[in-house]
Amino acid sequence: EADPESMSVGYGGLPDRDGHVTLDACIMDHTGNCGSVSFLQHIKHPISVARKVMDDTPHVMLSGSGALKFAIEKGFPKEELLTDKARKLWKEWLKDSQYKPIINVENHDTIGLLALDQNGDISGACTTSGLSYKMHGRVGDSPIIGAGMFVDNEVGGCCATGVGEAVMKTLGSFLIVELMRQGASPQEACEEAVRRIVTTNPNHTNFQVAYIAINKAGETGCYCIHPGFKMMKYANGENTPITAGSHLK
Ligand code: ASP
Repeated sequence: EADPESMSVGYGGLPDRDGHVTLDACIMDHTGNCGSVSFLQHIKHPISVARKVMDDTPHVMLSGSGALKFAIEKGFPKEELLTDKARKLWKEWLKDSQYKPIINVENHDTIGLLALDQNGDISGACTTSGLSYKMHGRVGDSPIIGAGMFVDNEVGGCCATGVGEAVMKTLGSFLIVELMRQGASPQEACEEAVRRIVTTNPNHTNFQVAYIAINKAGETGCYCIHPGFKMMKYANGENTPITAGSHLK
């Protein structure tokens, strides 16, 4: 979120079509508690605000100016998040203002994290500046519990990235956790969730969706529509990059 070179989250994130950086994030712990912010502007660390919503309020989601007011009350600094680099790219885009989701999400990626701790408890989080050049006010899957991210500590967890609309329409992360509950491995569950998107969207060749999942045994899975998505697995002090299999080859 703080790295201006990463142009898909937080500070330096690409703006919407009107030039505003608007952020979505959510977090969920092993007790089923969760917090979320959507359409939040001017705060570098939306995931930390989502955490405060979870810990300090009776609510799950705060949005827009209410989320900003809450963040400021909690001591988060109000900052300009649009960097010169992002402004330049946006001005370039404005020349023909063609909205095309970027297929390879390596270039435009929500940060999704799933953690299994030493007690076997699972939690998860995701944070994003959403689709670049989206309509002002558009909120994606990432702050929606069950769409962009979901954890059930009896079963496992899941995070999504890619075109949020496709994920929201199938409640992808909840679906994957429920498939695991019924016996699917994380890999099989991710593949089935991608299959549902692909079969109901003849235009799936034009957009990317990718899922990562983990179960209680620590088994992981990842799958996407287009090749090009990688997840990073950290275990026993080591990071291992894993290239996700894809529906299209
Ligand atoms: N899922 C995010 C959204 O639709 C974007 C992304 O993951 O790249 O807002």
